[in-house]
Amino acid sequence: MSDALKMLPRSPQERVELCLDALRKIYPRLDLASHIIGDPITVSWEADPNFLGAFKGALPGHYRYTRRMYCHFRQDELPAAERGIFMAGDGVSWTPGWVEGAVQTALNAVWGIMHHLSGECDPANPGPGDRFDKLKPIELPE
Ligand SMILES: Cc1cc2nc3c(=O)[nH]c(=O)nc-3n(C[C@H](O)[C@H](O)[C@H](O)COP(=O)(O)OP(=O)(O)OC[C@H]3O[C@@H](n4cnc5c(N)ncnc54)[C@H](O)[C@@H]3O)c2cc1C
Repeated sequence: MSDALKMLPRSPQERVELCLDALRKIYPRLDLASHIIGDPITVSWEADPNFLGAFKGALPGHYRYTRRMYCHFRQDELPAAERGIFMAGDGVSWTPGWVEGAVQTALNAVWGIMHHLSGECDPANPGPGDRFDKLKPIELPE
């Protein structure tokens, strides 16, 4: 974010020049600029009116929502018609803004898909859904 904010006030052309200049130092023998065939487009998150910051999730009061999203991969209790879609990544993570949660939720989703298709883990190497009842985040009253 600190680097991105330095780019924010610059025009697209200035941003491109800054990036090319930095890349030139890393790849001195590569002429990246010669590969640009149109007007470059640059996007700055921080200039988006709906951008709420990297750590917009998991704030006080969000526990119930985060818990619901995080636990969605265990679908045995859901009505049959609501099973079969699995979410993974930063957006459903317990720790949004860190890659660790993205990886955790990906592993959860893989377990969920495997279980949905009647697969199972080696009992000697249980997956996240197998240990879920013991380790799941506690449910708080609404
Ligand atoms: C500036 C910045 C700094 C960060 N620093 C750290 C750090 O130091 N440590 C840390 O742990 N985490 C850091 N993070 C967070 C980390 O990058 C994320 O948690 C992680 O990348 C999320 O992984 P993901 O797979 O959920 O999503 P992403 O990595 O965002 O992957 C989503 C992918 O989906 C693609 N996509 C989107 N829409 C579509 C579509 N319609 N069709 C096909 N593909 C699509 C996107 O192009 C993207 O490749 C940082 C994030 C940012 C932005």
